[in-house]
Amino acid sequence: MTLHPHWGHRSLLTTLAQARLQGSLPAALLIHGSRGVGKQHLALWLGRLLLCDAPAPSGPCEECASCHLALKLIHPDLHWYFPLPRPKAASTPEKLAEALETARGEALQEIRGNPLRPIPVGEARSLYLAAARHLRRQAQRRPTRSDTQVFVISDAETLAPQEASSEAANALLKVLEEPPRGTSLILTSGEPGRLLPTIRSRTAQLHLPPLSVGEVTSFLIQVAGIEEEEARRVASASQGAIGRALGFLPDGADPGPFEQTRTAAWDLLSAALSPEPVSKFQTASAFKPTGARGLLELLNFLEECLRDVALTASGGGTHGWKPEESKIVAEALARKAIHPASVVLALRKVAEARVMAAGNVNPQLLVFGLLHDLERELLRP
Ligand SMILES: [Zn+2]
Repeated sequence: MTLHPHWGHRSLLTTLAQARLQGSLPAALLIHGSRGVGKQHLALWLGRLLLCDAPAPSGPCEECASCHLALKLIHPDLHWYFPLPRPKAASTPEKLAEALETARGEALQEIRGNPLRPIPVGEARSLYLAAARHLRRQAQRRPTRSDTQVFVISDAETLAPQEASSEAANALLKVLEEPPRGTSLILTSGEPGRLLPTIRSRTAQLHLPPLSVGEVTSFLIQVAGIEEEEARRVASASQGAIGRALGFLPDGADPGPFEQTRTAAWDLLSAALSPEPVSKFQTASAFKPTGARGLLELLNFLEECLRDVALTASGGGTHGWKPEESKIVAEALARKAIHPASVVLALRKVAEARVMAAGNVNPQLLVFGLLHDLERELLRP
């Protein structure tokens, strides 16, 4: 299977294609925007644009041999690095490097087989020092097929926070400082504020805005082959991000990964608001004792739940909640009126939890503390 053409963002693509024809595309770009909005997809589109044998004023031709290889993710001069779970049984740095390259190859194979797979959720993933070193070595080599090499580095903010001294970020910085001639680096980030300032300052920044719900709906119908009613339902939850919409689609008999995470976020809120003290303990103990970074997506959804609660508390309706979600809020409101200002304080606690999760605090302790904080803020006497 091959990647589908980039969907939407037409005027941005045209601007980039024209910059390419004029030779004015920066050698190092940082694409930022919300999760699932298409940053990886745009980065790979740019890779094709840079490697295309006959680029058009609207973008890569998508028909030459180079475009075909890049669309199949097998172009030898297009190198894509993305966060991976930490491989098990990697006792030495050499073994870790080897295991990471194997895992990257397997993940690429999976993407080639299903380019519309949802974004992975729930497992802590990082870009490791070994990957940054691999990239550096590769950048010193000559291109294989084209006169240029393109490196796509996805979710650059995940550069090994667990490897002290930010060595991985520094290894990448070396390439950004002196990119070998003809080398292009395209970084993406959903949280550019977490990047080293030196990485931000060495890249030209490009914001990728959300699409309209209509654009997401037409993508789901025309490219993903989803029934219209279902396409409309998930597009309305997508916040203009195709990757997010795909995460809400059912996965066989199971709900989609984003649907599951959303349910888990409501369960957290339910435990926080429960008058039964044991429910907080039980909920927190159900988490694994390691891998706090895997909680980040859950915390994003928890913020969304809280914003919905704030809207409801200020009389703004229930936003298409499921019955069980309305019940959680109704039961809490029966105990105590939730003031919108309390929700703001609760959101601050979630933001603190996010910092702790990024710093790899024990997830059970983190969740237990957060549930108490949420109860205290939301049901403040
Ligand atoms: Zn082409």
